[in-house]
Amino acid sequence: MKKCICLLAGDGIGPEVLAQGVAAITAAAHDCELIFEDALIGGAAVDACNNPLPPETVEKCRKADAVYLGAVGGPKWDGLSPDMRPEKGLLGIRKELGLFANLRPAILWPELGGACLLRKETAEKGIDLIVVRELTGDVYFGCPRGEETRYGRRTAFNTMIYDEDEIHRIAHTAFAAARLRRKRVCSVDKSNVLETSRLWREIVTNVHAGYSDVELSHMYVDNAAMQLVRDPSQFDVIVTGNLFGDILSDEAAAITGSLGMLASASMGGSGPGLFEPIHGSAPDIAGTDSANPLATILSGAMLLRMGLDMPDAADRIETAVRKTLADGLRTRDIMEQGKTLASCAAMGQAVVNHIWKTSGQK
Ligand code: NAD
Repeated sequence: MKKCICLLAGDGIGPEVLAQGVAAITAAAHDCELIFEDALIGGAAVDACNNPLPPETVEKCRKADAVYLGAVGGPKWDGLSPDMRPEKGLLGIRKELGLFANLRPAILWPELGGACLLRKETAEKGIDLIVVRELTGDVYFGCPRGEETRYGRRTAFNTMIYDEDEIHRIAHTAFAAARLRRKRVCSVDKSNVLETSRLWREIVTNVHAGYSDVELSHMYVDNAAMQLVRDPSQFDVIVTGNLFGDILSDEAAAITGSLGMLASASMGGSGPGLFEPIHGSAPDIAGTDSANPLATILSGAMLLRMGLDMPDAADRIETAVRKTLADGLRTRDIMEQGKTLASCAAMGQAVVNHIWKTSGQK
């Protein structure tokens, strides 16, 4: 089997962490020929060709089976016009690839229990959930929007809007994701108040008819925000709209602890998905070999599982990460007393060593 992965290293710590991610997926998918193709994005692309998303990058991504990204941005490009900012490259590639679903796992690794913001007895129950957020609709994109003067007062407005096709496709994504996990979906809305939410609930329920092996529940968003801190262990897959998902995915991520551990995937229709850590380019530590590469390595596991349909290889990475943490290795951001401080490269190599051991390569 041959698969092509487009690498967008980007800026700051992007190239450092992506190098470790590439080493991990190469080791884990040893029975498949992975072909890597580099392309420019963000500040690096602005420096090289005055465009944060050059057309060749879009073309290479479209042709690939999956896209693997480090991070973009940095103070060097902060003064540029909005169209030339590195972040424009990231928003642009998501749009070009038609990525309508963002999947963010929130996992509390038992070895990092001390970093959890919740009470000990709550944390002990474990957190292993994924938020599936609709990415291209809702109040962020709905029209009309704007500001005008009404009755002598400045008035601003946005439109919360979803059509049934948009809800259909995100519901399918969530049920499919649940099938790869513990087979439970909680759909979050505000259907006691909002028409968009009533349509959301109806369509999600209809789509569920095709997934009788998956359990479906519904929850109002205010309750979901509370339940996430009261007892996150009750959730497997949470599916929700763009606005609610924006807030809940950050809440879920924050309670587990470190930014350096959080992976994500953005999926579209038939084209390639985009896999990236949720953190930024961390200019404050770029070039010091001290970044935590695990978020990127775990995004690599998502790439293998969801992007290339290689669940065994994905399992190998996740098991290796767990073993590396159990060995006591920590990058600076997750360092605790009694543990061993590791550089970005050393952490990545330790994960690769565990992958090799479990797959009998060495
Ligand atoms: P950031 O995520 O880059 O950094 C926030 C803090 O977390 C910093 O102290 C940083 O050192 C630390 N950190 C982040 N990732 C880490 C890792 N893997 N290991 C150890 N520590 C880590 O957010 P920021 O400082 O607000 O933004 C910096 C730049 O990144 C900005 O230009 C911003 O626009 C951009 N950004 C890009 C993305 C992306 O590419 N997806 C996301 C967010 C921010």
